[in-house]
Parts: sequence; structure tokens; C-alpha cells
Amino acid sequence: MSDSQELGITESKEHATGEWYAEVIQKAKLADYAPMGGFIVTRPRGYALWERLQNHLDAWFKDTGVTNAYFPMFIPESYLEKEKDIVEGFDPEVAWVTHGGYDELEERLAVRPTSESIITPFLAQWTRSHRDLPHRVNQWCSVVRWEATETKPFFRTKEFLWQEGHTAHEDGDEAWDEAMTRLDQYENLYEDVLAIPVLRGRKPDHDKFPGADTTTTVEALMPDGKSVQGATSHYLGQSFAEAYDVTYVDENEDEQTAHTTSWGLSWRSLGALVMTHSDDQGLVLPPALAPEQVVIVPIWQEDTKEEVLDYAEELALDLDEEFRVHLDDRDERNPGFKYNEWELKGVPLRIEVGPNEVDDEEVTLVHRPDGETETADRDDLDETVEDHLDTVFAKLKADAEENLEENVREAHSREDILGTIGQHGGYVKAPWCGDEDCEDPIKEAIAAEIVMVPMDPDAEPIGDDCAICGEDATETAYFAKSY
Ligand SMILES: [Zn+2]
Repeated sequence: MSDSQELGITESKEHATGEWYAEVIQKAKLADYAPMGGFIVTRPRGYALWERLQNHLDAWFKDTGVTNAYFPMFIPESYLEKEKDIVEGFDPEVAWVTHGGYDELEERLAVRPTSESIITPFLAQWTRSHRDLPHRVNQWCSVVRWEATETKPFFRTKEFLWQEGHTAHEDGDEAWDEAMTRLDQYENLYEDVLAIPVLRGRKPDHDKFPGADTTTTVEALMPDGKSVQGATSHYLGQSFAEAYDVTYVDENEDEQTAHTTSWGLSWRSLGALVMTHSDDQGLVLPPALAPEQVVIVPIWQEDTKEEVLDYAEELALDLDEEFRVHLDDRDERNPGFKYNEWELKGVPLRIEVGPNEVDDEEVTLVHRPDGETETADRDDLDETVEDHLDTVFAKLKADAEENLEENVREAHSREDILGTIGQHGGYVKAPWCGDEDCEDPIKEAIAAEIVMVPMDPDAEPIGDDCAICGEDATETAYFAKSY
């Protein structure tokens, strides 16, 4: 296999999205498949994306009163069982440890599918009086859900990286505000860092987190017309606090039960990132996450090599302080090869310099997403690069926004919902009575479901009658196929 074949993406995003996605993940060196089905190895370039994303979110969490902690990856079965709803919700997906060495354990240990059942008891221990509240604890960790599905890196794996935040509060209003603060931060991460617009709403009651009062979500539309649940924030009400005795003594010396929340974002966000922006040349990354923001490619002949390289090195030095810049001065590769490689790796901005640029004291800048090329003065290169990276971000965001705007449609009958999703994918909003039975026929026919309903409690449904059963509509449901 020649180098160019090895580098190039052979599948088409439009016509073979799944194969294309797998190829981009592997060829851009983000991840490999582990020997056990359902697990992946996150390679340094993939982990670098997760770290940058983590840095953004972690800083916002800390600015808003959250501290990080770490709880064991194993949870005693008796702890899981205390919240019957959780057991029912997760049991078939739980991986169990039954032996330590050769000895059978007296009590099975669950590999955490999520950590409410081990964290909440400690929130209870740490809470005596109202002065101890609120608690806001987050952990960055991995969880395991033993789903028997095909492995899709970052989208579907048995073990996945995420953060899970858990909080306890004196009253319900404060806990609700907490859940909304976290949903806002998830929305900001998608829109301002990943350049992916999202819809925010809540899950229908039959699809909320087991034991939650309300599950809220940000949903992102992928170019293939499927929705990704981008992150969820749960207002848990008092159910977990009651099950695990998170009680406190209030100002009047009366015992009260706390209100709790939990909220999580996983590396599925990286899957959404790759799926949204990348193309048939490979990865496309927003500047904030790209391991290299700028690559400088010098173009020389033997007689111009020295002056071009010197110039390119000066540019790299100029930019080094403010940006993640890489000078590709490899002798053994020609410029065309280098362009392909850095396009595959998703570097947002390429600077080309040859003898002409040296003579004119200029640079040629090329945007990764669309190849737009511009010449600029070498002076104030920092500012120039900053502007161009902003432009690249704006282009990515605008494309994704256009995709979302064009793909929210309305339907008022069962046939209409089926036909519209069948033809276009995307979201179809329809008036809905609130009954799970009215989702079933859509699910059975085309595997689409209600991914969210808008959260505004005063919002009127978009029609008087449920699109499925014809009874009174109480809300507007967003149907979509989802990842
Ligand atoms: Zn109905």
C-alpha cells in the first residue's frame, strides 16, 4: 500500500456514514479496537481531544462551586439494591465481580454503571445540618454498561469515559437551578467549543433516568439525520435522598430530606464532534480542541531551501506563545503529502510559505474546512491567525446550524411522522398526548423515538390533537432516530 492510499479516506461520508466514521477514527489515530468486543483503546490524539474538552468543562464546574472527588469503581450489590428503580433500570447491563482471586465474594460487586448508589450514601454521611449543604461533587471516571451492540468508538462502547456530578441541596428550587446550571454548561460546551448547535429539552417521562423527577438533555443533530443525546442533567427530587437518608436539621431544628441532582457528559461528545464536522478528507476540528491549531508547511527547491526554512522557523517562533503550532520541515515528504496528512488530522489552519512569500514578507493561509486560501502580511501574524481561527470556528458552526435549521419539520399524523423521518431524517415535531403508547408505533415502524420535549412549561403544543391517537395534545414531541 502506498503512503497516499494509507492516508486517504476511502469511504464516503454521505453514502457510507458508518464505515466512513470508523475509517476516520482509525486513520486520524483517535482510537483502535480492543481485543474484547465493546472496548476501545483511546490513542494519544483521541485522548488529547478528551483532555481539552475536559479542561473547559472542569474549569466551568469549579467556577460554579463544584469540587472533584473519586469513588470506587465497584459498588456492593446491597447498595445498588437500595434504589429499586435503579436496579430495574440498569440490572441487565451491569457487569459483576464475583471472585477475588480464587475466592468467591460474600457479596457481589457491581462495576459502576453510574455512581448515585455509592455517592449518595456518602453525601448522607457528610450531611448533618443545613449548614453542610449544598454538596457539589464531580468525578471524572469511566463506567461500564454491558450492552450487546456493535462497537462504535465513542458512540457505543461497554466502557466509556465521562464525568458525573452529584449534588445535594436544602430545597427543590435550588436543586432545580443546579440541574439547569449544568445543562447550560453542556449547551455552552457544544455551541461555543465544539461548534455544534443543540436543542435543549427534557426526556419524556417514560424515558427519564430511573428514579429521576426530571431528566433534561441537550440533543445534537448529526449530518446523517440522527440525533445524539449530548449530555443529561437530572433533577432527582427527593427519591434518592429518601432511599439513602440524605437528611439534615434545618434552622428550626426540624429534620428535612435533601433534594439531589446528577449530571453527566461522556466521550460520546467526541463522537458527535467527529461526525458533525469531518469530511471525506478526514478529521475536521474546531480550534479550541485541535492538538495542533496551525501547521506551517514550507515549500522549497534546493536553491531556496535555506531561506524558506529560516522564514518558516521565524513564523513558528512568532506563533508559538499564543497557539499550538507545528512546523512540518520533514525532508522526505513533499508538500502535497503533508497537506493530505494534516488535513486528515484536522488541523484548522495551514500556513504555506515558499520563496514568493519570503520575498513579499507574506504568508498564505488555508482553512481546513473548505480550502479557502488567503494571503496576508507577515506583520501582526498573531492577530491574523487569531482572526482566521475565529473564521474557521464560525464556518463550522454555521454549517452545523444550517443542518439543524433545515431539519426540524412538523407533522400532524402518524403517516406524516413516518414519511417525513423516512424521507429526510432529522427532527419531526408533533403534537403529543404524553402517552408512551403513542410512541410505540413510530418506534416499531422506523426505530425513531421521542428524543425530547421542549422544557418551557407554558409552551402550547403545536396542535390540538395528538398526532397518533387524536386525543388532546398536552405537549410537542420531537421524534428522531438516534445514536
Ligand atoms: Zn396520543
